[in-house]
Amino acid sequence: MSNRRDDDAPILDPELMSNDTGIDRRAFMMRSAMIGAVAVLSGSAPANAKETAARAASATAPKVPLSPDLQVVKNSKGPVMTVVDEFYKVGPGPSSSHTIGPMRITYDFYQRCTKLPADQLAKASALRVNLFGSLSATGKGHGTERACLAGIIGKEPATIDPAFLDELAAKPDQTFPVKLGSATFDVSLKDVVFDDTHGDFPHPNTMRCKLLAGDKVLLEQEYYSVGGGFIEWKGYTPPKKGQPKYPYSTMKELQQHAEKNKLSIAQVLMANELAVSGRSEAEVNAFLDKIAGAMVAIVKSGLAAPPGTLPGPIKLKTKAGEVYKRAQDDTFEKQRGVGVVSAYALAGSEENARGHLVVTAPTGGSAGVLPAIVYALGEGGRKLPQEKIRQGLLTAAGVGYLCKHNATLSAAEGGCQAEIGVASAMGAALIAQAHDFDNQVIANAAESALEHHLGMTCDPVAGFVQIPCIERCAYGAVKAWTGFMIASNEIPANRRVDFDTTVDAMALTAKEMNSKYKETSEGGLAVSVTLC
Ligand code: SF4
Repeated sequence: MSNRRDDDAPILDPELMSNDTGIDRRAFMMRSAMIGAVAVLSGSAPANAKETAARAASATAPKVPLSPDLQVVKNSKGPVMTVVDEFYKVGPGPSSSHTIGPMRITYDFYQRCTKLPADQLAKASALRVNLFGSLSATGKGHGTERACLAGIIGKEPATIDPAFLDELAAKPDQTFPVKLGSATFDVSLKDVVFDDTHGDFPHPNTMRCKLLAGDKVLLEQEYYSVGGGFIEWKGYTPPKKGQPKYPYSTMKELQQHAEKNKLSIAQVLMANELAVSGRSEAEVNAFLDKIAGAMVAIVKSGLAAPPGTLPGPIKLKTKAGEVYKRAQDDTFEKQRGVGVVSAYALAGSEENARGHLVVTAPTGGSAGVLPAIVYALGEGGRKLPQEKIRQGLLTAAGVGYLCKHNATLSAAEGGCQAEIGVASAMGAALIAQAHDFDNQVIANAAESALEHHLGMTCDPVAGFVQIPCIERCAYGAVKAWTGFMIASNEIPANRRVDFDTTVDAMALTAKEMNSKYKETSEGGLAVSVTLC
């Protein structure tokens, strides 16, 4: 049933590629920065967001063609090779490319510094981070500098206490002593430099990290935050990967492996994880438990946060805690379920908007969807065994891999269908897998959830991942459940549309979608909502 594209050329990774009209995430980020700048310079918020967006649209974004040397560009052919620890990444929101990637980069550089010989470290006197391209143009609005500082002083992205970043936002003049070998010196936000926005960079999100001894450079490395929290550096060679035990590039092939070998989709994916990553099953399970634990913690922390206003010009009030409390009092049991799942998703998404920890599943904007489902199936509701949650997370990852491989996870390429739509499809598959439904039901559930997000545009108000993103996560979670309910209650063989066809439709829709609706803030809510 699938009408696969003839060229079989996948659209690339989140936040990576320019769309065919040449307007991309960088342009969007520049425009967001312009909107903010207009407000700051004029001393008041723009009277009319449409007018502001139109003005901002005239800004020239740094146009940086992706270098063919980047691994992420080379990776786009062949069977699915992605593994879970590349796909699910924990780090500070709100953006996988502007906060998680940069923090992973500076943390990597810090680790490299610690490995220098003692006589060199003894001379160290400063650390410096230079941000280029889009990171420089819009990093301030995203808190990129805070994420960079946290990493460069040795804080790990996956375990950082969000309170540290909040405190840094409130008191940006703080200094932090860094001890490297026998040397100790102070580092502050002044050491993170917003550098050139235009230039001949291999990637729009380019950074350079340096360890200095006075004017002398002890260690220097150029890095790229290539999207979805993935990072590369100059001279990067990808880690050696094994061949998948069950090669697949479509859901049909994945299901065929499962049927032929009498395995569940989760079991096929686990066998591939082991073969490709070289890790043991215990290691993969430990990683999946860590991700599930992070998702649970994100929802809990979002629910427990005191009511307040989210950062940014929208001044959006939080609502997760209130929706949760009131949903629990709902006299209608079934309504209660919808309300509670929605509250869980709102909680996760509000955490992203606060710049707190999120899991890319598949992106920061969709960060409320999967945590809501994991929490609702586990301690926040159904209390399924951890083993079932793990299997569900694996199968959800498989759905995400296929969307990445054959379409896109990038709103800048495909609109919101590629973020929340994919998250919802992953969620539907997760629920079906966790309840041990047949592979066909799993595929159908994912198809159903994705099908009903096709064409969904990305039009975040003022360029902040808040409206429509936060409530949209709640809808994504509820629609995941709807997809599962339909797929598990219909006759599976009667479903007329298969998952691969819908992924192809998403890719086609992505190609044909007007660029106004691809994270450029030039259309839809972004120009209809007036901020005052
Ligand atoms: S509208 Fe959707 S795709 Fe766009 S930023 Fe918000 S969540 Fe992401």
